Amino acid sequence: MIDVRDDLVELEGYHSPQVTVDVRLNTNESPYPPPPAWRAAFLDELAAIAFHRYPDREARALREAIGELHGVGPEQVLVGKGSNEVIQALCLAYGGTGRSVAVFEPTYALHSHIPRITGTAVAVGERRADFTLDPAEVRRVLAAASPAITFLCSPNNPTGRVDGPEVVDAALATAPGVVLVDEAYAQFSPTTALSLPAADRPLVVTRTFSKTWSMAACRLGYLIGPAEIVAAAQAVMLPYHVDAATQIAGRLALRFVAEMETRVAALVSERDRLASALAALPVDTWPSAANFVLFRPGPLSGTAVWKGLVERSVLVRDCSSWPRLEGCLRVTVGTQAENDAFLSALTEVLG
Ligand code: PMP
Repeated sequence: MIDVRDDLVELEGYHSPQVTVDVRLNTNESPYPPPPAWRAAFLDELAAIAFHRYPDREARALREAIGELHGVGPEQVLVGKGSNEVIQALCLAYGGTGRSVAVFEPTYALHSHIPRITGTAVAVGERRADFTLDPAEVRRVLAAASPAITFLCSPNNPTGRVDGPEVVDAALATAPGVVLVDEAYAQFSPTTALSLPAADRPLVVTRTFSKTWSMAACRLGYLIGPAEIVAAAQAVMLPYHVDAATQIAGRLALRFVAEMETRVAALVSERDRLASALAALPVDTWPSAANFVLFRPGPLSGTAVWKGLVERSVLVRDCSSWPRLEGCLRVTVGTQAENDAFLSALTEVLG
């Protein structure tokens, strides 16, 4: 049997352990389904799909609708099977042998995992102890590594912290390549870099339908950026990568912006309630602008608390063995009832 590529031997697949529990708060999905009117319209259009034909390879209607939402033309919109596929396409187009990306840890694991899969080296910068990012650190890493892609993530997963405009400015001023701001959670936050992409600026912003749009099952994400970068990333996508059903799902979702914003507002208010309740327990927390909160239990180890929560049928993400996140757990904001269940289980576990 042939061996796998030398550079992949050490690589572990990315996965989030799934356990059957009543309250699942481990993968930052929305606890709310999409609106019933969306479901009805989706099922109607599904029935009319010509299933024997390939879908629109350009996903034109979907890209036009996303472009309209953000005030740009379809040539500035790249869609993919989740924002992960969009990130992969950028790495295939701009990364590869002899090239690198820069990430600032702790951050979203796939920002290093996807580059490695595509044979791209990863230069690692550090966030401060409070998980904010110092623009001077951005300048230092970019000057040393000359990365083809610089990853920022705002709000950052799993810390929830926002990178201010001074961080994006520092990256844009120093980066020799593309600057990617991953905004998977931006609707939960007051800040966005979406007004910044311009034809003469190598900045792209990625977003997803998996969180605020309540459509994680569909796998749809996108990037807004200069047409030249969109075309380069599109060129390395497999043909027909976004299927007909997903194209319909995304296009129809955009008719329900007000409903999406209502769900987001409910989650932001639950997040703030969760954060205040955590502040009254013996745990460290950090301000979150996303739909999750990172916390470090004081008296017990992170894994002991994680197990105690699972025994009470509550699943959160155990980050306690991840570098720079010793002892930390991440809880996704759920419905009021789910958050109450989490808080009472946690209170019990902390004893
Ligand atoms: N970026 C960040 C920061 C994320 O946390 C996630 C999901 N966990 C993604 C991108 C990927 O989202 P998707 O592929 O579902 O669009």
